[in-house]
Amino acid sequence: MTGEPPFHPLPRLAPGSTIGMLGAGQLGRMTALAAAKLGYKTHVYAPDAAGSPAAQVSAAATVADWDDLAALERFARSVDVVTLEWENVPVATAEHLRRFTTLHPGPNVLSVAQDRIAEKSFVNALGIATAPWRAAGSAEEVARAMAEIGPRCVLKSTRLGYDGKGQARLEADSDAAAAWEAIGGGKPGADGTAVQGIVEGFVTFACEVSVIVARGADGVMVAYPAVENRHKNGILDVTIAPASPEKVSAATAAEADHIARRIAEALDLVGVLAVEMFVTADGAVLVNEMAPRPHNSGHWTMDACASCQFEQLVRAVCGLPLGSVGRMADAEMTNLIGDDVLRWPDLLAEPGARLHLYGKAEARPGRKMGHVNRLFPRR
Ligand code: AMP
Repeated sequence: MTGEPPFHPLPRLAPGSTIGMLGAGQLGRMTALAAAKLGYKTHVYAPDAAGSPAAQVSAAATVADWDDLAALERFARSVDVVTLEWENVPVATAEHLRRFTTLHPGPNVLSVAQDRIAEKSFVNALGIATAPWRAAGSAEEVARAMAEIGPRCVLKSTRLGYDGKGQARLEADSDAAAAWEAIGGGKPGADGTAVQGIVEGFVTFACEVSVIVARGADGVMVAYPAVENRHKNGILDVTIAPASPEKVSAATAAEADHIARRIAEALDLVGVLAVEMFVTADGAVLVNEMAPRPHNSGHWTMDACASCQFEQLVRAVCGLPLGSVGRMADAEMTNLIGDDVLRWPDLLAEPGARLHLYGKAEARPGRKMGHVNRLFPRR
């Protein structure tokens, strides 16, 4: 016997196979487009799949609830593997699907990523820093957390928050009861369970960064460089790829990369993971949150990289070798939120601007309608 590990070929799904997609938004749409490019079909499953961004470009769509066990089983049996574009798919749904098919990422990953307390506990247990935080199940506990952490805090709902929703800023003179009320604390949330809170110390960050890592079933990982994210009204506005070295030193970027890989490995993730982090003035890196799926801050990869984040997800869940994260250009991604999308004629006329629209009929305020990538020579 030699010391060589045994060779286990990956279960590999050949082009022509069908990928099941839980969730039907723009991330599902762009994954389906990447799948189609490699010859795969996509079957979308979501309660709101009808006419959705993802269904418009997929071979099939099932419109059914997350707890429709019969529909889930039919769906699972009709596809070759299942992945997701939304980490809040109920864990019970994921567990049910797992009885009939392969699901990546799995229920263990979802249960960590769905709850800010589980997420921060998981990250801290790896020795990775976050802002100081406390769980808060009442207005009194919010007040106690402010006393312990310091009065400059952010109160967030633990589940189902996104784009700054379910959050309240706290200062020394803030009323904890009003903040608790503002996030709907104790009341039934979108999933029917009582809204719980987490109080986080407010981070005076120099900039926000994210790293997107793809990991295959064989444990091989690739990661795109750390990018800078600028938010407007709690929603991602612009991503600068890669983050400029004036703002994020090579050492800080390497640390962000290391953190994202550590988390993906500890989760035993198969697929794509985005980790959002704060960088403080002295270069400390604190994890804010993570998403086990393609991420808005990775949209620049569609036009600037050899393989984009959506193709990496397809490759990872189909057991294909991961693609190159090689960057052919630097990039700036700008989200088109709400009425921004009305600028499409100008954007189409702008030389070099790469327009991506999501096929959403109604441009409601705060709704992500599309994005535009602009490329620049590599620095
Ligand atoms: P989140 O939903 O946790 O990603 O929060 C949305 C945005 O709010 C972040 O991207 C930050 O810009 C800001 N934010 C969230 N948490 C904090 C914090 N603890 N300190 C400072 N800013 C925060």
